[in-house]
Amino acid sequence: MPVFDVQQFRQQFAFFQQQPDWVYLDNAATMHKPQAVIDAVTQFYQQHNSNVHRGAHQLSQQATALFEHARTTVAHYLNAAHSEEIIFTSGATAALNQIAFGLMHTELKAGDRILLTQLEHHANIVPWQLHCQRHGVIIDVVPLTVERQLDMLAYEDLLALKPKVVSFSHISNVLGHIQPVAQMVALAKAAGAITVVDGAQGIVYQQPDMQLLDCDFYVFSGHKLYGPTGIGVLYGKSAWLERLTPIFAGGEMIDTVSFINTTFNKLPFRLEAGTPNIAGAIGLSAAINWLQKHNTEQIKNHKLLLLKDFYSGLNAIKAVDILSQPVHNAGIVALNVDGEHPSDVTALLNQQQIAVRGGQHCAMPLFSHLALPGAVRCSFAAYNTLDDVNRCLLALEQAVEILT
Ligand code: PLP
Repeated sequence: MPVFDVQQFRQQFAFFQQQPDWVYLDNAATMHKPQAVIDAVTQFYQQHNSNVHRGAHQLSQQATALFEHARTTVAHYLNAAHSEEIIFTSGATAALNQIAFGLMHTELKAGDRILLTQLEHHANIVPWQLHCQRHGVIIDVVPLTVERQLDMLAYEDLLALKPKVVSFSHISNVLGHIQPVAQMVALAKAAGAITVVDGAQGIVYQQPDMQLLDCDFYVFSGHKLYGPTGIGVLYGKSAWLERLTPIFAGGEMIDTVSFINTTFNKLPFRLEAGTPNIAGAIGLSAAINWLQKHNTEQIKNHKLLLLKDFYSGLNAIKAVDILSQPVHNAGIVALNVDGEHPSDVTALLNQQQIAVRGGQHCAMPLFSHLALPGAVRCSFAAYNTLDDVNRCLLALEQAVEILT
């Protein structure tokens, strides 16, 4: 297989031309956008700007066609059975809130159980918790092994309690560990549970196939897939989407409204109240089309090389404590400098224009379990280079010298 041309890939990002001194290793928070995405969004505002689904004029029809084409692009990317299974939301958080709210109103009753895992992002904990408290639903949590992997034996034991819903992330946003999602979905389905996969970090690692994965819901944010912020996707099997109570109500999601009664629109519109993020959806579709022009296997191999070099450099720095396992890792490494607060490390890295994130990464239950105040997270993307890896390692070495 030809080697991935990282420089050619990187040139497509204006950010790196305009800010050449920055080493950007905060990709798990959000990714940079290629010119193709920026152009698609700009072009929409410059040439087609109009609201969708409601105007009789040609501009609105063009905007509607572009918006609905974006839905079809996402549906094809996920290999969804129908494009109405794609609901545009503002992000993964909004999608998870819609699922939690919707299922709580229709499917769950007091005494029912929901199964989450110890390493979930708050977005896959708090929406459930909010409703569980009110509806008397119980949350169980899959623990971790000493290697900080999901304990699959415990998972099977907890499935024996017959949870109504099982919801977990494809890839841990802190540790980068890739979960055995296919196996987890299959086991959960065999136990009769509704399955929800949080693909916020998974979407950029691997193109998910909804027919193969067979989960009931899958969510992600566009900005973690080279797309704009403020746009996300809630995929659901039609039968399940039909059963969700809408979290938002208003224009577009209705069929008829009177002060006596309201009837609702069909999918996907029933779950998309108000004016959607039209430019965001078009930008996301441009990101997917752009990404599909690149060889994903080459990208994966390139990221593996970066990871390998990063780990061998880290292993040579004595005071660094690595939390993430190098195997089955999607390119996210959590670490600490012995006894030092992660914010002190990230501040020193920032002084050298190395962008990483420090803290609890919206995963407080994970850090409570680890009994740590947080971690420094270095997350890699396809546009990162070996030079980025080396500069980060050097800055870490210097941080260790200063702090210890
Ligand atoms: N789930 C995971 C695993 C994440 O990493 C994130 C964001 O970092 C989210 C959910 C929430 O995504 P957003 O803030 O884009 O809605």
